[in-house]
Amino acid sequence: MLEPLNQPAPYVYSLVCLRCGVIYPVSVAPPYVCGCRPNVGSDLGTLDLQYDYTAIQQTITPGQLAADPDRSIGHYWPLLPIADRHLLPPLAVGNTPLMQPMQLGAHLGLPKLFIKDDGRNPSSSFKDRASAIAVARARQQGYTMVATASTGNAAAALASQCAAVGQKNVIFVPKSAPPAKIAQLLVYGSNVLAIDGTYDQAFDLCIEACHIFGWYNRNTGYNPYMTEGKKTVAFEIAEQLAKWRMRSAERGIGSPVYSEFRTPNSELFQAPDAVFVSVGDGCIIGGVHKGFKDLLALGWIEKMPRLYGVQSTQSAALYDAWRRDLPLPEAVVATTRADSISVNAPRDAIKALNAVRQTNGAFIAVPDTAILQAILPLARLGAVFAEPAGAAAYAGLVQAVQQKLVRPDETIVLINTGSGLKDVAATMQVTGGVTVIPPTLDAVFNATKDV
Ligand SMILES: *Cc1c(COP(=O)(O)O)cnc(C)c1O
Repeated sequence: MLEPLNQPAPYVYSLVCLRCGVIYPVSVAPPYVCGCRPNVGSDLGTLDLQYDYTAIQQTITPGQLAADPDRSIGHYWPLLPIADRHLLPPLAVGNTPLMQPMQLGAHLGLPKLFIKDDGRNPSSSFKDRASAIAVARARQQGYTMVATASTGNAAAALASQCAAVGQKNVIFVPKSAPPAKIAQLLVYGSNVLAIDGTYDQAFDLCIEACHIFGWYNRNTGYNPYMTEGKKTVAFEIAEQLAKWRMRSAERGIGSPVYSEFRTPNSELFQAPDAVFVSVGDGCIIGGVHKGFKDLLALGWIEKMPRLYGVQSTQSAALYDAWRRDLPLPEAVVATTRADSISVNAPRDAIKALNAVRQTNGAFIAVPDTAILQAILPLARLGAVFAEPAGAAAYAGLVQAVQQKLVRPDETIVLINTGSGLKDVAATMQVTGGVTVIPPTLDAVFNATKDV
């Protein structure tokens, strides 16, 4: 256990309530959510961290940042809400590959399609980005216990980050979470409380427990610092796209790319035209938005991409609110098979709705059948094995292509949020079983003659 550090993050100067506008200076230990609406549910006094961008610009150039040999999220330290990047557990979160799936792009008529595969994080989901920040903040403030409620991935991420630094933790998951995710919790030695109830009930119980027992609370959409971990995906996408453009130019592929660069920064950071990501509570899409907002404020990118949030029609509270132009979602009864996006009352509703509305994007709702089917083209044409919630983003992209929400010349990034190994049962449902043969050459011949 590290000594508690009292210095705040160097460039964070306050937290602002997105609901009532009240500002909390960082010096007074700000709350998780604003006092204007501290209760749980979607109508929360969601806080957003504010950075001193001028001070960051005076401290570091994008070139220095891009040249940092640490490729994990610690690499973005001036834009992280922690006092010191060495507080991050040594698990190398982030730096996941941005790949150009040629066959999948051709299939969709989108030659500049990219997949950001966040299934390749230490605990095999996007959630590592946030959990790393949670553990760093808990250590910084000297908490002895960290807790979270989770549909499974946030918990697995927290469990592994805690194991890396010997931090005690308590996990609240619905007992229906897929076995692989529960196995991850158990193997890392967490105190696992499988709740006989929904994710939403686990969420509320975790908040109460943290309050009563004095534990650090990592809950998504409740702890405002989680957005700050999740935003690192936007930084990486922008850096990786800039590198891809440089490489294409060197190989003489495509249009005269160099002439498109207007500032030197654009050789280091490039925004795509659109990003597709699946949405449950809305924290990831809010984080993606925050990351691109940071880069825009620093003048390191020149435009904000359109953000598309994909939900299951069986868990579509945010899609409904967006379509009906409501300020906040009404709770639904979520029944989707894509457990990671199965949410009744989205907790990060304000940030998620802002992400889509302020970037001219859209919410898209896809049926569960399309989500499960999407696992196959993503694997067979893109060679990325996604869990159902990850594949949902692809199902949403297919719908967006049909509705002409994207153009063939645009640069589009699809984020896979979780590995397919997290939920093998869902995959077996769409692939069917394996053919068993006797160990003879005849059988091999018969089984392969039509392939
Ligand atoms: C958590 C999660 C999501 C949804 O993220 P929210 O922040 O809840 O919107 C999507 N996919 C996977 C794999 C996840 O674990």
